[in-house]
Amino acid sequence: MQALKYARAASVDEAVQMLRDGGPTAKVLAGGTDIIVLARERRRKVELFVDIKHIPETTGISYDSSNGLTIGAATPLYQIYGNSDVVRHYSALAQASHVIGGTAIQGRASLGGNLANSGPAGDSIPAQMALNGTALIAGPNGRREVPIVDFCTGPGQNVLGADEFIVSLHFPHPAAHSGSAWERFIPRNEMDIAVCNSATYLVLNGDVVTEARIALGAVGPKVFMVPTDALVGKPLTDETIAAAGEAAKATATPIDDMRGSVKQRKHLSDVLTQRTIRAAAERARG
Ligand SMILES: Cc1cc2nc3c(=O)[nH]c(=O)nc-3n(C[C@H](O)[C@H](O)[C@H](O)COP(=O)(O)OP(=O)(O)OC[C@H]3O[C@@H](n4cnc5c(N)ncnc54)[C@H](O)[C@@H]3O)c2cc1C
Repeated sequence: MQALKYARAASVDEAVQMLRDGGPTAKVLAGGTDIIVLARERRRKVELFVDIKHIPETTGISYDSSNGLTIGAATPLYQIYGNSDVVRHYSALAQASHVIGGTAIQGRASLGGNLANSGPAGDSIPAQMALNGTALIAGPNGRREVPIVDFCTGPGQNVLGADEFIVSLHFPHPAAHSGSAWERFIPRNEMDIAVCNSATYLVLNGDVVTEARIALGAVGPKVFMVPTDALVGKPLTDETIAAAGEAAKATATPIDDMRGSVKQRKHLSDVLTQRTIRAAAERARG
């Protein structure tokens, strides 16, 4: 482990100032489940950790039916999937939070850390995108909001500027007769990087899909949205679900690696998309 300093920020402004003072080797510390590993293995040069877990705005969950859901960026995952409002209204997010790492990881790891890592296979990112989330970012020039669909710009890359960090994540209240679902495929039962992950949010009017948001991960340089023309405005049938799966497969641009081949990942893009559509529709129907 490299020698480094630790500073605990008590406010958003103080965290920004600490990041500014620390320069490029000052890093935000949320749960530390990624950054501590990287620093210990010297894969990331860190001279100062700025701990954001003690800032009131970065921890905790608030929900109401007019304002939707706000989750502090450093809130540990176990609080997210343990929250009955999240489970009830934002199922995809609860599902993703429940499988990241194991129990110990979930006691520390955060959605903000998962998003800021901006890994193509980051498990919460498809759920955050399908649920139409927005990241509230603070930095030297004040605060700004960025739709989560626009947050990641490439593998491990995102829109965060120097000395900026994510304060919280906001998700609008889901429409009536809507549902969401998340799934992933990993080669083992747990603790592995997804070969493909998928999240779907959809709204039904009777049998007709009036809105759909489908996101896919681990099958491209970043998590992306799948076109939904095959579903929206049409009845939800085996045929339209299969067409949406085909659209996912066609949009995916995976690579071969030790976890899966291009062929398998293309296939999974189709299968997981169809599964999350079906599961989301079941929830939408109540
Ligand atoms: C054993 C193990 C299993 C894992 N399993 C999974 C898995 O199944 N799925 C998965 O997706 N990931 C997995 N991970 C990776 C990791 O746990 C997750 O990405 C987690 O969500 C990271 O959150 P964190 O709060 O610990 O981030 P940290 O480690 O604190 O930070 C990660 C990075 O994001 C930056 N950062 C953190 N918070 C913010 C913020 N609010 N604003 C700006 N930058 C920020 C940090 O500076 C750092 O660069 C696993 C890791 C381990 C060690």
